[in-house]
Amino acid sequence: MLKKFGFQYWWPGESKFEIFVSAILTQQTSWKNVEKSIKLLKDNNLLKIEALSSIKLNKLENIIKSSGYYRQKAKKIKNICRSILKNYKSLDNLFNRDIQTLREILLNFNGIGRETADSIILYAAEKPIFVIDAYTKRIMYRVYNIDENIDYDLLRQYFEKELDTNLNLYKDIHAQFVALGKNYCKKNNPICDGCPLKNYCLYKKL
Ligand code: SF4
Repeated sequence: MLKKFGFQYWWPGESKFEIFVSAILTQQTSWKNVEKSIKLLKDNNLLKIEALSSIKLNKLENIIKSSGYYRQKAKKIKNICRSILKNYKSLDNLFNRDIQTLREILLNFNGIGRETADSIILYAAEKPIFVIDAYTKRIMYRVYNIDENIDYDLLRQYFEKELDTNLNLYKDIHAQFVALGKNYCKKNNPICDGCPLKNYCLYKKL
């Protein structure tokens, strides 16, 4: 995959806070829609934890409308920002925790599930935890016939056991799965010709 797609330099974002916010915005929507919301937040000088913790909800809803589920997402982002400032004073202070503590804190926020929490830990806090998403599950199912409904943490722990614990490796492999899933291993009608995994893939051999 690396040979095919090159190093992915993920996650796009100019700051930890931008990555943090975009990890929430990208839930159930495409990255293009997230980019529009992030641009508007930047244009309005609002991409700061202090600004988003005190913003009027309807203003934030309007700004992030392109990201879908904007009412829930606006409430979620504002509440989480407020809680971080109240309990940890800053995002950096929160990110100073060890991986397990940080993960437990993130998972306790309303609206942050395991994929979002782990994306934040890996790409914003820059700590090595492997991120699983629907692309990863689909590709692992097709290539190795691993149960597509496998538990998130079971698959995460499998990668963490098999790979060297390396931040950039974890970052890039997740990004490679996304590139493969978007360009070749699509949900319907995968494009196996040209796929870099086709020689290893059980699905292709069926
Ligand atoms: S060979 Fe086809 S099914 Fe297998 S990983 Fe590639 S695109 Fe998916």
